[in-house]
This record gives sequence, structure tokens and C-alpha cells, in this order.
Amino acid sequence: MANESLIPATPKKVPTMQHTNSTAASAIATMTMEQETNPWEAQASRFDFAAQKLNLDQGIWKVLRYPTREIIVHIPVSMDDGSVEVFTGYRVQHSIARGPGKGGIRYSPDVTLDEVRALASWMTWKCAVVNIPFGGAKGGVICDPRKLSQGELERITRRYTAELIEFIGPEKDVPAPDMGTDEQTMAWIMDTYSMHMRQTVTSVVTGKPVNIGGSRGRREATGRGISVVCDEALKHLNMSVEGCRVIIQGFGNVGSNAAKLLAEKGYTIIGIAEYDGALFNPNGLDIPNLLSHRQRSGSINGFASAESVDKHELLTRECEILIPAATENVITSRNAAALQCRILCEGANGPTTVVADEILAEKGVFVIPDILANAGGVTTSYFEWVQDRMGYFWTELEVNQRLDRIMSDSFADVVAYATSHDVNNRIAAYMLAIDRVAYTTKQRGIYA
Ligand code: NAD
Repeated sequence: MANESLIPATPKKVPTMQHTNSTAASAIATMTMEQETNPWEAQASRFDFAAQKLNLDQGIWKVLRYPTREIIVHIPVSMDDGSVEVFTGYRVQHSIARGPGKGGIRYSPDVTLDEVRALASWMTWKCAVVNIPFGGAKGGVICDPRKLSQGELERITRRYTAELIEFIGPEKDVPAPDMGTDEQTMAWIMDTYSMHMRQTVTSVVTGKPVNIGGSRGRREATGRGISVVCDEALKHLNMSVEGCRVIIQGFGNVGSNAAKLLAEKGYTIIGIAEYDGALFNPNGLDIPNLLSHRQRSGSINGFASAESVDKHELLTRECEILIPAATENVITSRNAAALQCRILCEGANGPTTVVADEILAEKGVFVIPDILANAGGVTTSYFEWVQDRMGYFWTELEVNQRLDRIMSDSFADVVAYATSHDVNNRIAAYMLAIDRVAYTTKQRGIYA
């Protein structure tokens, strides 16, 4: 475990190569919650710390610290009632050194440019951790998909795509789903892009429906990857699947698929927290039944064979594995000390703040960082892009076997890096990734 503090390692302009020695406690005292939960600052401070550990060349440090390109669009959209609304959208391309930009598009009322910047750089590091030939990008539109009709969502998506037409493409930047977007959104993007190109271009996005160039296994891939790294963590810590209790926050694409696959492997899912409530059953929730209940009723609430509990308090209950799989900043200085898990497996991007990291390190929690834990999604997106370009599609078994191998190899790489460099898993994952991206950036050279 690293014994130096990461707080607040966020130089404002040029990296200083210096590091603070302040403790978590003193940082908590001086840092506002707004500062603690700014995802860009969180990304940047971890990046700086890892870069310093790597003794990274100053010039490459500056190149990799900031995104390559940030695009802001204001999209006019005709609403169902005949009025016109203008939505703000972003696409940030952090690095294209190792291949086309890759990263999801998020529809949420809370999207900010700093959040999209952080998510774009996390994509660069994530693709490098699992060693796939992509750079990092991310997009977002400030909107509430729950309050929009399908027609309004389609028009937002098509206009957003049209505004980005010269910046995305199979060899430039390949979007995918994220919070608030899904297979249908990707189908609209693919169609809009194809209309502009005057030919069908399936490889412009991943996470599409299988019948129009999607990959078998993509829908479950992030949850599947999580189940693989949980298996590896148990082996690493000499723990057993039998009696391994899991609590999951978020029952969307990532959380529900992780729950289903882990339950099939014999883990006991004792708690699920959602936006509007949480469920607890010490003997294990019946996940297939809960999925059917949610599909019927639209919520996890009211599920018969579970106790209804407070959604915040659930995260602090005793368990072997806690999986935040909803959104950023859910484990902060406010609740980190109260967690009672042995393993924190980050299904969501950026669920843990830098201050919380230090508290968890002091408690000896084994963290499987987001840029490793949830990389199953982008890995299968890479398989989808490969299959689209080949025009030849693999069986689900082939996809899953390839995914399992990459996830378990990457887990081993990160843990070995942590041991050999005497840092925690998160910093090891950053170091491994930065090292790979820096190597390629130097090899390609700085143009003009
Ligand atoms: P999703 O929209 O399918 O599901 C998110 C779920 O979390 C929803 O059910 C929502 O109700 C719930 N939720 C949101 N905020 C919550 C809160 N504060 N408390 C409890 N529940 C809450 O999104 P997703 O695709 O499952 O993504 C979840 C996270 O995983 C995001 O951070 C995303 O960036 C990350 N991620 C997703 C993928 C992917 O393949 N979908 C891949 C890598 C990382």
C-alpha cells in the first residue's frame, strides 16, 4: 500500500512534481465537499501521483494530463408539444495515441464538462489497462431521459450526432452507451452517421442491437468482467465464493448483470440499493425473480422476499464485497470510515473520492479500481468493433472466453504492478496505463 498522501495533489496549471504530505484528516478539514467530489480533480490528482511515481518525462506529463479536444454543442430540438428546446452536449477526446477515441455517451441532468473530461481520461487509462488499441473519449448531453419521450430522445440523439459528424467515426472516435443511453440510442447514432456517409457504417458505435452489428455478450459484458475480477480477488485473498456476501448499488445495466452473474457463480447477493429504495436479505436475494419484479413494476421496491432498508445505510452493512455500480462520488469522507466490506469492486466510474481512498487504505479494504473492474464493457466493445470491421460475428462463448482471459490477465498485471512498485491497486492501474500510453506517445513523436 502507498504510504504517501494523495490529497490535494491537483496542480492548477503545470505539474509541479511535488507532493503534499498532508494527511487524510487534515485534508478533510480543509476540503469542501464540492472540491472532494469534482471528478476531474480526482482524476488529475491520481494521474499526477502515478506520473510522479513513474518519474514521467515532464513534457509527456503535460501532454497526457489534459484532453486533446473538447467539443461543446447546443442542440435545437423540436419537442412533442411543438416548442423548441436547446440542449447542451459535450464530446471530449482525451487521447488518441493508441487508437481511435473510445467512450460512452451519458444522458443526465447532472452532466458537466469536468465530469465528461474525467470520464474521457478514465477511458484512456481503462483501454490501456486492458491493453486494447483505443484511446479515451466520452460524451454527454444535459437532459433527463426519464422526462423525455422516445421521439424527443431520438431527435436529441440524431442532432447531437450530426453536430459531431466530422469528429466521430470508426477510425476517429467510437461512442458507446453509458448512463441514460442504451442499444436504441446507439442504433440512432449509427443510422444518422450512415445517412451522412451515404453507406451503412456499423463500426461507428458499439453497444448496438445484435441484429445491426452488435456483439453477442456486450449487454452483460461489464457485469461479467466484474464477476471475473471478483473471482480473481477472492483467489488472491484466499477467500471462498461460498458464504461470500455481496452488496450492490445500482441495478441498471452494470449492477443487474453483475448481480445475476455473481449469483449464478454462487455468491450471495444480500443487498441492492437503487435510486428510490434498497432491499436486504441476509440469506440472499433471488436475482432472476427481482429482475422480473422490476420489469413488471418499474422498481425494485415492493419485492416480497426482502426487507426494505435505507439506501445509504445499506452500503455500510457488513459484507465481503461492495459493488458501487450506479454513479460517481458515492463513497466519500462522509461514509468511507463506516464501510464494512473486505473488497470494494468499482462497477461505476469514479465512485470513490480521493479522500475516501485514503480512509479505505487505512482500513485495509482491497480496492479493485474502476479502470480495471468495469473494463469488461469496453473490452467487448472492442470485440464488437473488430467483428463489424471483419463482417464476421463470433459466438457468445467465443466472446465470453476472450473477455474472461483479458479480465483475469489484467487483474494479475495490476496486482503484480502494485506489489512490485509498493503502491495500492488504483495507483498501480494508473501507472500501468500511463506507462503504456506514454510509451506510444513518445514512439509516435510530437507532430510539427
Ligand atoms: P444505467 O443507467 O443502466 O444504471 C444505473 C442504475 O443506477 C440505474 O438503475 C439508476 O436508477 C441507479 N442509480 C443512479 N444513481 C443512483 C444512486 N445515487 N443511488 C442508487 N442507485 C442509483 O447505467 P449503467 O450503464 O449501469 O452505468 C452505471 C455506472 O457504470 C456508470 O458509472 C457508468 O459510467 C459505469 N459503466 C458502465 C458501463 C456499461 O457498459 N454500461 C461500462 C463501464 C462503466
